[in-house]
Amino acid sequence: MDTIKTLTFSVASLIDQTTGTNEKYRFEGPVKFEGIKVKSDIKGTVEFMRIYEGFNVSVQDIEMKVEMNCEKCLKPIIQAVKIDHFEKQFLISEPEEIIDPNDLYLVDTKYMKVDLSEALRQEIILHFPVVQVCSTSCKGICPKCGTDLNKKECNCKLEIEDETSEKPLAAALKKLLLAKPEGHSVGDDRSPNQK
Ligand SMILES: [Zn+2]
Ligand SMILES: [Zn+2]
Repeated sequence: MDTIKTLTFSVASLIDQTTGTNEKYRFEGPVKFEGIKVKSDIKGTVEFMRIYEGFNVSVQDIEMKVEMNCEKCLKPIIQAVKIDHFEKQFLISEPEEIIDPNDLYLVDTKYMKVDLSEALRQEIILHFPVVQVCSTSCKGICPKCGTDLNKKECNCKLEIEDETSEKPLAAALKKLLLAKPEGHSVGDDRSPNQK
């Protein structure tokens, strides 16, 4: 299998073949995608199969690294993006009815080439990690003063926790405890009766 160093592939040898004929390539190399901070080469495999309308393009085993920002503290982090498999059809001519122009891919018939860049860009964005955090224990930044709470604590921290997360929970707990019938709690070591 040949290794191609760009995302543009020649389909000149396949265009005159019967439907079902295919060719497979490995690709690996530096890439640029608009709106994505690419931090490694991209690699993967692609298989072109001649279909009546053009080519069915099956892309597999995509691996690359991208830079994003931690959702909590905004620090830049490098994340791996992997895509097992996706397929697109690249058409030789525009169909009479275009259902979704963002999902319309055409063969460059002048040079008999297929450019995977846009299809890949869209798939990569779809496959971004759902949770983007620098670490599961990231404390984030204080929404009031902007202090990075991983580095130091700020004075508004306590106040914020009181107002938002802890207070409603504590109040709800208190309500529950008060609603409990007194004197019947067996084995509850928080019960005042057993102190
Ligand atoms: Zn973080
Ligand atoms: Zn603060």
